[in-house]
Amino acid sequence: MKILLPVFLLLAQTVYLLGAEKPNLIIIMTDDHGYADVGFNGSTEIPTPHIDRIAQEGVRFTSGYVTYPVCGPSRAGLLTGRYQGRFGFRRNPTLNPFDPLAGLPLEEPIISEILGSVGYHSGIIGKWHMGTHPRFRPNKRGFDEFFGFLSGGHDYFPENLTYPDIESVDRAGRWYNTKLLRNEKRVEIDEYLTDELSKEAVKFVQRNQRKPFFLYLAYNAPHTPMQASEKYLKRFAHIEDEHRRTYAAMVSSVDDGVGMLLDTLDALNLSEKTLVFFLSDNGGAAYRINAANNAPFRSFKGQVFEGGVRVPFALRWKGAVPAGVDYNYPISALDILGTIADLAGVNIDPTRPLDGVNLIPYINGERNDPPHERLYWHMYDRDRSAILTSGGDKLVIMPEDGTRALYNLNNDLGETHDLSSQKRQKTDALEAELETWKAQMKPPFYDGLGTWQP
Ligand code: CA
Repeated sequence: MKILLPVFLLLAQTVYLLGAEKPNLIIIMTDDHGYADVGFNGSTEIPTPHIDRIAQEGVRFTSGYVTYPVCGPSRAGLLTGRYQGRFGFRRNPTLNPFDPLAGLPLEEPIISEILGSVGYHSGIIGKWHMGTHPRFRPNKRGFDEFFGFLSGGHDYFPENLTYPDIESVDRAGRWYNTKLLRNEKRVEIDEYLTDELSKEAVKFVQRNQRKPFFLYLAYNAPHTPMQASEKYLKRFAHIEDEHRRTYAAMVSSVDDGVGMLLDTLDALNLSEKTLVFFLSDNGGAAYRINAANNAPFRSFKGQVFEGGVRVPFALRWKGAVPAGVDYNYPISALDILGTIADLAGVNIDPTRPLDGVNLIPYINGERNDPPHERLYWHMYDRDRSAILTSGGDKLVIMPEDGTRALYNLNNDLGETHDLSSQKRQKTDALEAELETWKAQMKPPFYDGLGTWQP
């Protein structure tokens, strides 16, 4: 990628580097959203014109990764800027609100706390999933505002939200049916959940437009349960498969919300002061779950193949990063905190260094080396692991079926041609590196999702 850096971009960056103004940050996260299911990655079946604006007016990351192929650990990596295994967050936590262990460890600083230390006002709208016990909730973790739910997914229809709170849940799975929370207080909603979250996001920006703010808009769409309102379903009458049609409608509802939010930024003249990241928390899930499309990648959520960890990922920062370009080296959700920490001039605890980096110099061509020589994955319970080099070599290890395969993503995006027997030395060397990294990770310290039987 060759980018000529216009003078105005340098000027815009200089203003920030001099600390004259701290840029706002918005992270828009979708849930189990397939790589191929956004217009900016080629989808024509599910138009996403508003989400596409982020890439068209900014940067599309063609090799954007998350740190884990399921929700909880991936989000823990995003929020801390560190491989979540470093602090043992290695499975989806139980949703048991009486369990004081199952949550993001309080001694690990997270993005809202880190930005709060330099004056940011932070809000989370949507899904938390970082612990349901009162000690772990968003308002205890640097978020000044919370509107959403504590569980790993949620029912989308207001009439189904029949449990007053998560403590009153009396059957497994009903944690999807609790009322929403505004900070510590339960609230009633009357619209389709995704629309409610989008409207809250717009109001958050309007309310906080004069402060440096951080908004974590964590949509649960298109995660199960597969539920969409008629407004969105009727856009996809041409999709025969009902499951896929509902998925498309759920993605489309997010797209409308993203449009409202971007329009709000434009109307308030905030688009040049605000980084907007868009990504999914893991790859799309299989057909029987949410019918996502991860083409051209292999497999789905829950796997360390590309389909589990490589996600739709884009960044818009008008006037400060170039518009409509692709960035192709592997980058990570870890880099979001790496980027904003640098731009906002925060001090990071030296005993807990970030694994993420500031992406801006790489995007703007000031640096031509790869942001990460290596990216790593390890699923603790299944013992599936992988390592990716900046040169496109990827080793995948899965003890369950004896897989120990080396792929070259430069000409094999689908991970179908195992090169390990031809390239034994490289395979051995990468496995040794992977083992060295795994040895730095801590074992999980809490019970997993599904262990709570209310
Ligand atoms: Ca997810």
